[in-house]
Amino acid sequence: MPYDDINMNKKETLKKYQEMRDFSKTPGPKGKIAINSSLPTFVIQKHAASHLHYDLRLEINGVMPSWAIPKGPSVDFDTKRLAMQTEDHPMDYANFEGTIPEGYGAGTVMVWDNGTYDNLRLDDNGNPIPMEDCLEEGKIEVYFNGHKIKGAYVLFKLKSAKDNAWIFKKIKDSEAEPNRDITEEMPNSI
Ligand code: MN
Repeated sequence: MPYDDINMNKKETLKKYQEMRDFSKTPGPKGKIAINSSLPTFVIQKHAASHLHYDLRLEINGVMPSWAIPKGPSVDFDTKRLAMQTEDHPMDYANFEGTIPEGYGAGTVMVWDNGTYDNLRLDDNGNPIPMEDCLEEGKIEVYFNGHKIKGAYVLFKLKSAKDNAWIFKKIKDSEAEPNRDITEEMPNSI
């Protein structure tokens, strides 16, 4: 049973996504809450809307909290990228590629990268801090196992920001590549 329609709280998380779209017009999925027993997944969708951006989505509790990153991810640990948190997306949106017609987010969407991630944040006893708590606190540290994006990254909410502004940044590790421009070098769908 891949989907769970029981948990009302979780159901609420997709309400905004669904209210913002007319599913008789957009090819994007309406979405359900998904239950996944393996490693959580992520996707980065390159979205050629009126302003090109990259949508980072992390699987947390059966939905995908999302951030729009205007300049896309960087593999350089000195480069900070603005990431604006948007509405949670359904898990089945993660495979979506296509053209969204006029309306909300019009433009083409491609799957630029995807894979699994590990939560790097631990409590004092060495146990992982639940991702939903990290999200709530505004500080997420994950290790990506993607095709293009690999290694440790931090995503933190700007304290002064009124409008859901976060920073997305590579953490210095063996996967960091200061002189590489990965969105320029690898522009295509996986
Ligand atoms: Mn987008």
